[in-house]
Amino acid sequence: MVRIARECIDDLIARADIVEVISHSLPLRKAGRHFVACCPFHQEKTPSFSVNAEKQFYHCFGCGASGNVLSFIMEYQHVDFVEAIHELAGQLGMNVVYEEDGQKTESPAARTDRHLAIYQLLQHVADYYAHQLTTPAAAAARRYLEQRGIDQQTAQKFLVGFAPDAWDGVLKTFATQETALLQAGLLVETEQGRRYDRFRNRVIFPILDQRGRVIAFGGRVLDDSKPKYLNSPETAVFHKSDALYGWYQARQQRPLERLIIVEGYLDVIALAQFDVPHAIATLGTATSETHLRIIFRQVDQVIFCFDGDDAGYKAAWRALETCLSLMNGKRDVRFAFLPQGDDPDSLIRRVGTVAFQNYLQQAKPLSHFLFDHLLKRIDIAQLEGRARLVEVAKPLLAKLPEGAYQTLLVQRLNELTQVDFKKLTTLIQDAQPKHSPSDPVAVREKGREKREKISTRNIIHLGRVNRTPIQMAIQLLLHTPALAQRAEDIYSQVSVLIDKDGDAEFLMLLIELLNRQPDMHLGLLCEYWRGTPYEPLISEYALQENLLQQPIVNIEAEFDGILTQIKQQYYQYRYELLLAKSRLAALTPSEKQEFFELAPLLSRVSHGIKP
Ligand SMILES: [Zn+2]
Repeated sequence: MVRIARECIDDLIARADIVEVISHSLPLRKAGRHFVACCPFHQEKTPSFSVNAEKQFYHCFGCGASGNVLSFIMEYQHVDFVEAIHELAGQLGMNVVYEEDGQKTESPAARTDRHLAIYQLLQHVADYYAHQLTTPAAAAARRYLEQRGIDQQTAQKFLVGFAPDAWDGVLKTFATQETALLQAGLLVETEQGRRYDRFRNRVIFPILDQRGRVIAFGGRVLDDSKPKYLNSPETAVFHKSDALYGWYQARQQRPLERLIIVEGYLDVIALAQFDVPHAIATLGTATSETHLRIIFRQVDQVIFCFDGDDAGYKAAWRALETCLSLMNGKRDVRFAFLPQGDDPDSLIRRVGTVAFQNYLQQAKPLSHFLFDHLLKRIDIAQLEGRARLVEVAKPLLAKLPEGAYQTLLVQRLNELTQVDFKKLTTLIQDAQPKHSPSDPVAVREKGREKREKISTRNIIHLGRVNRTPIQMAIQLLLHTPALAQRAEDIYSQVSVLIDKDGDAEFLMLLIELLNRQPDMHLGLLCEYWRGTPYEPLISEYALQENLLQQPIVNIEAEFDGILTQIKQQYYQYRYELLLAKSRLAALTPSEKQEFFELAPLLSRVSHGIKP
């Protein structure tokens, strides 16, 4: 797998200054040892967003947002990790280095240049198609757009063009760049090696990425030939599973509160023409979880638009199933069913914007659609039907993340079936799919959800959360990595405590890492465990007001005290273990010796004397 090289990420974080990066986006004000601003992630009048230059870490005590410089770019610009890396590298004038199986791949500059060349070529080809639309040969295409009520301005906004009815329109115009045309998916190559234009005699809809660069094309025929729609194949810059048509244009809307998901290019364009500018479409595929994650980074409200026929219902149900695992109390997913035989394009032209908005108003919330759909098939007047409803609903509700939203749906199921609420909850918990921790997107999402929970908790308990000694050690190490030296000799004892204390493993990893790389700071530590199951732990332990605000006086002594408590835990644990064993079987001589050595240690430690 090609991935960004670890050293490259570390190098970026080490060279970036979080204060400088954030100050491009927010007016930071110096306040004591920190910089503060009003938080960009929640509404507030007095600043509770604080940036710590020494730790290269930001945090907000209002909403719990926190992280390092990359987290900030991801959250603030709504981009994913890789995009954030590129953004930061761009700001610092550095190259992003990739590696594959530990080997550096193609020099990043060469790769960027090659991609750059493809992007440029795609843009030139889009201009060429747009120009073709103005020629006499495109009369039928213009008529087609006119019939759909699409004016020139809207067509230009979406860069609509026309591919002439020729085998070599693009091929001849860009003759010197034939290889690049092939890489960009614009040519088809036969087995005999003959190359010709992929798009011929079609209206062309350029597909843009998040930054507005042309990455591919979709083409629609003007007659009855097949296929009706044709897309570019997957290329180095175009990945169907995460591309969304109209996404770039929709994102220009401010404020952008909701998105409408429709099925085709023309639906998107027609809605924009009729003042519904926030519609997007997937590219001939069903909406995937990846699509939804991209969408939910931007808005909480999504309306799916489907035809009111059987195929439409089936597609809607599939979309519902995809949404379930991403639902929470904040997100609002609805399903609008249009009159049979209509798509958004034809409907809005027929009834106008206001009536169309009414259809959207009547869209069914996900929970209604879910139960309506099931109740259409299951008669709950009979006991057997109610039992069946529980069986069918169980795996669906089990997909929902735990939380208020899931509880409300279980309650609804309880009302419908009269099966005891607690019983239902247990049944659904048993049906819960096991999450694989190796999926980095899912892990990150989980971390975010967990952080949302943590932040509410921290607002209430900030500064007086009860922590175990191991948790306190983790906290102090995250904030003052230099302390790790003092913890080296406790390593083996912590490893024994793993069976007893879930946090012991993380403490071990932390001690090990910091002794190997002593000059890390909190920002780098965040990065080190990003996308792993430990990520939520870091955000949880990093957010500690007293540690973030001022350095602790005599922190070494404080830390040593905590280490003593951990040792005490270890002695206690071993002592109890050996005691229990001695009741079942004879101890070995070395165990006996350990046992007798432990007894006095226990009392000494518990009196606060170091062993
Ligand atoms: Zn905040």
